[in-house]
Amino acid sequence: MKKYAVIVAAGSGTRMGSSIPKQFLQLQNKPVLWHTVTAFLKAFDDLEIKLVLPKGHFDKGHSIIQSTGESKRFEIIEGGETRFHSVKNGLNTIQDASIIFVHDGVRCLVSQDLIRRCYDIALKWGNAIPAINSVDSLRMEKNEDHEIVDRNKIKIIQTPQTFRSDILKKAFQQEYRDFFTDEASVVESTGIKIKLIEGEEMNIKITRPFDILIAEKYLENH
Ligand code: C5P
Repeated sequence: MKKYAVIVAAGSGTRMGSSIPKQFLQLQNKPVLWHTVTAFLKAFDDLEIKLVLPKGHFDKGHSIIQSTGESKRFEIIEGGETRFHSVKNGLNTIQDASIIFVHDGVRCLVSQDLIRRCYDIALKWGNAIPAINSVDSLRMEKNEDHEIVDRNKIKIIQTPQTFRSDILKKAFQQEYRDFFTDEASVVESTGIKIKLIEGEEMNIKITRPFDILIAEKYLENH
């Protein structure tokens, strides 16, 4: 089936403490976003990318696209007020029946294997959401206090969150709500059961300066 990746990179990335949004920081002499889009281009030859960017950074997006040598497989789309609105802008440009991956532009260490597993499961079940276990002990704040939660019952959710296009596009016709922090939450609120699959420890979301160090080291050895 036809494949699209909506890669959202329209956030301002303020937690990194850098004036350049984190998706454009350099890793092994290439922008973070270059590594992300390259993983998707390599995973499937017939996959096209809807790259969602802040309007002020379209020029950076164009040079990343040019440097892949695959510019025909891209469209640049302007981001929205929240992640939900950015994804929706991307989805509005997809008309054909397809499998759609929605991926954080800053998860640049995603493997081709995970992308392909997401595709296979979404084709069969309608959706596939990668998740990993917590290695840390966890506590939840409660009133003025806090209590332990069983970490074996907690899942840390990653991307690419992958869906059949009819399911995802229908879910995004809803009005935005505050608890829509990812696409699984949007789709689940339409009554669809979410299918979790095994994610990857290295599929980190580049958020803090420390993450850049980890990613740099990882890429040095891969
Ligand atoms: O802010 P957060 O780290 O949760 O953002 C997750 C992803 O969504 C990032 O890749 C970010 O660039 C993207 N995003 C977006 N449009 C927004 C806000 C976030 O594309 N308005």
